[in-house]
Amino acid sequence: MAKVGVFVCHCGVNIAAKVDVKRVVDALKEMPEVGFAHEYKFMCSSPGQELIRKEIKESKINRVVVAACSPRMHLPTFQKALASQGLNPYLVSMANIREQCSWVTDDPEMATQKAIDLVARQIKRVVHQDPLEDISVPMTKTALVIGGGIAGIQAALDIADGNRKVILVEKSPSIGGRMAQLDETFPTLDCSQCILTPKMVEAAQHPNIEIRVNSEVKKVDGYVGNFEVTVEKKATYVDAQKCIGCGICQEKCPVKTVPDEFNADLNLRAAIAIPFPQAVPAIPIIEPDYCKKLIENKCGVCAKICPAEAINYDDVPMQETVNVGAIVVATGYREMDPAVYTEYGGRKYPDVITGLQFERLVSSTGPTGGELKRPSDGEIPKTVVFVQCVGSRDESKAHAYCSGICCMYTAKHTMIYKHHVPDGQAYVSYIDIRAPGKTYEEFVRRAIEDEGVRYLRGRVAKIRRLQNGQYRVYTEDTLVGRAVHIDADMVVLASAVEPQEDAVGLAQILGIAYDSDGFYTEAHPKLKPIETASAGIFLAGACQGPKDIPASVQQGSAAASKVLSIFARDNLVKSPQIATVDPTACTGCLTCSYVCHYSAIEEKEFGQRQVAEIIPGKCQGCGACVATCKGKAITLAGFSDDEIYEEIVSCK
Ligand code: FAD
Ligand code: SF4
Ligand code: SF4
Repeated sequence: MAKVGVFVCHCGVNIAAKVDVKRVVDALKEMPEVGFAHEYKFMCSSPGQELIRKEIKESKINRVVVAACSPRMHLPTFQKALASQGLNPYLVSMANIREQCSWVTDDPEMATQKAIDLVARQIKRVVHQDPLEDISVPMTKTALVIGGGIAGIQAALDIADGNRKVILVEKSPSIGGRMAQLDETFPTLDCSQCILTPKMVEAAQHPNIEIRVNSEVKKVDGYVGNFEVTVEKKATYVDAQKCIGCGICQEKCPVKTVPDEFNADLNLRAAIAIPFPQAVPAIPIIEPDYCKKLIENKCGVCAKICPAEAINYDDVPMQETVNVGAIVVATGYREMDPAVYTEYGGRKYPDVITGLQFERLVSSTGPTGGELKRPSDGEIPKTVVFVQCVGSRDESKAHAYCSGICCMYTAKHTMIYKHHVPDGQAYVSYIDIRAPGKTYEEFVRRAIEDEGVRYLRGRVAKIRRLQNGQYRVYTEDTLVGRAVHIDADMVVLASAVEPQEDAVGLAQILGIAYDSDGFYTEAHPKLKPIETASAGIFLAGACQGPKDIPASVQQGSAAASKVLSIFARDNLVKSPQIATVDPTACTGCLTCSYVCHYSAIEEKEFGQRQVAEIIPGKCQGCGACVATCKGKAITLAGFSDDEIYEEIVSCK
């Protein structure tokens, strides 16, 4: 016979200011199922939990209802209190009389009535709850990191240092990501390559890390602890095992017409090339759309001169399935194409460039060897206008969001510019300055006060090319309330940070959520910023939203710690509140498999028939399949028809 102990929380004044807690307790005491009902100021506090433990022991109750806040916040707390007294933790139910009651009305009478009703329903429900046992699932203690930028490298290194194997899948020919393209970095102005390269090398040499470049994830099956991931390596036409990275092929290749992606398309490179000098691995790939041999079966120079016989024109894409227990997604971002701002002439005027192009122009590994020259004529630009928020905070043309990093990198660009051209003049057109990081405000001040950069508040309306090769920037200075124009030798557009082109496709493969812009969505913006809604899949870096390097590194380490905490257990312990199919009742229509957001339903043979089967490790207990099954063949433990029915109909 069920004997329910009821505990009603005041939550300080959060509940008690509206709900007459004493009246609630008195009303509930009258219910035949209730052994006793108590009120307490903070049920989640240590004394509150001690009260529950004491009553379980002394009053011999075998079911508990806690009326407090959201079960998402504190259900595990109360489950632990039950378990500590030998009571099955799934015999507790919570009534949310805060978010769903006291917080949503100004009327104390209504709040009190509703609280009585909500708690009474849980009392009726908990009587039908069955004890459940946690599910134990074996797991593969190898992690997959997708994306080899700084966030992915950091995640891989931390997991590997935790003595777990990591497979690092990178789409491009080298790890390093955008940081490899940067010259100096805010807020310290240290050389990007100097701090990144040791990490790239460490990742490459780490015995626990296997790097797979030129590779992409094509399919993900399985669930936390046991993912099966299909990784495809594209054809590169160079055997990485044989290549010694001498670079002769790149030198001798007669086709020098490939836009150099690493240099933000500022120059052309050979059809076979190592992406950049510090690339890891330093192995070239052939660009099939440009290679004469692959297009028209002519040339073949690289194969002839390669001392290692590493060229293979017959290379084909290869797929392989790997087993991993957890996944870190660190696929980063791309820079918005400013061509949408036709009035600025981005991609049309040669000296109207993007922030990333500016980085390459001032970098010693860039197309000019680090000498700042105008792309159009090689002249040193004496006046440069830096335009912030191009595509950011501009819903009408591009994105409503703030790209977060442009205020800082623009201040950095102006300083680097002044170090290259001390007698030059830099202007910045800005809407407002957002520099909330540690020492960031001081960094921007340095640009203004020490380097004499002139900041003009307002949006640029138009940029026009003049006869003399200069660019007239029509802008405003809203602080003095007047229109301004500046004749500049070069304009640098701080183009918005955007999700990768294939971000949505990858999210669909992984079964993770993304926002309306295409950035990946965390499970909870405050309390679960690294987790996704899919167990065992974590986020790091700018794939989740615009982020600078320190924040990307932090997220990489945070994701690694989540992975290591999963791998610290021998088996994966999962909530038993999952769905199960009764194969005798299942007609095999598999409608349920279409509604399952977690791909947890598969087909299996049952006698002569095919029926649905739920994969326990994958099921998240959302109940979508239960509601869909017309034959009532699926049940969700902890949410049986009896429990739900009693909760709905038993009270007025
Ligand atoms: P990324 O650097 O974008 O790396 C992502 C990696 O994932 C890439 O290697 C990519 O090829 C790979 N990838 C993408 N999709 C896939 C896929 N489907 N499968 C496998 N691999 C994939 N920050 C600072 O803190 N200081 C600065 O001075 C600074 N200057 C900047 C200047 C400019 C002009 C810009 C645009 C940004 C600047 N930043 C700066 C920001 C910095 O670039 C980012 O914070 C950082 O690169 C984010 O790292 P990440 O690893 O998240 O992403
Ligand atoms: Fe260049 Fe292709 Fe000729 Fe090799 S075969 S040298 S990649 S054009
Ligand atoms: Fe590698 Fe051969 Fe090219 Fe040298 S010539 S970089 S060994 S492919």
